[in-house]
Amino acid sequence: MPTPPTPEITTARNLTPADLQWLVCPVCRESLTLTESEIQPELGNIASQTISCTSCTRTYPVADKLPVLLADRAALSK
Ligand SMILES: [Zn+2]
Repeated sequence: MPTPPTPEITTARNLTPADLQWLVCPVCRESLTLTESEIQPELGNIASQTISCTSCTRTYPVADKLPVLLADRAALSK
């Protein structure tokens, strides 16, 4: 009999600010903050998240609840 998968493995959760304490901006090595945008019904009521650098103002996307900390994926906000 196969055992049912455990929820901890199969259920993805949103990032929390505590997750970012281990991460730094790949460009300037400064700390990051999590930004939650409005809940978007077309995305299944999942609030989309972005990660902002506290120093260089780059904004990184979060894809499938994984932070994409790549300099060439960052959006520079003025
Ligand atoms: Zn930065």
